[in-house]
Amino acid sequence: MQPADLPSPTNRIACPLCGNSVEFYEVAEDVVITTCYTQNDDGSFTPQEDTSEILGEIKLICGRCQEDMSLFRHRLAEMLF
Ligand SMILES: [Zn+2]
Repeated sequence: MQPADLPSPTNRIACPLCGNSVEFYEVAEDVVITTCYTQNDDGSFTPQEDTSEILGEIKLICGRCQEDMSLFRHRLAEMLF
């Protein structure tokens, strides 16, 4: 691996509380999930489409100590590949 392929340490976020820089959760509050079904002739159902709408906040949570790290969410969005 070339050194250029290694992520620079300054590009990594870390939990200010426990130092975790590996595991994070994204939690969406107040999510409405709508699933459309059609009923078939034999009485079974087939799902047609799912839509989900997020009404509340989206939070970034430390995977180790559950500290709210929402301030770093933009970084996650930028660095999501
Ligand atoms: Zn933490």
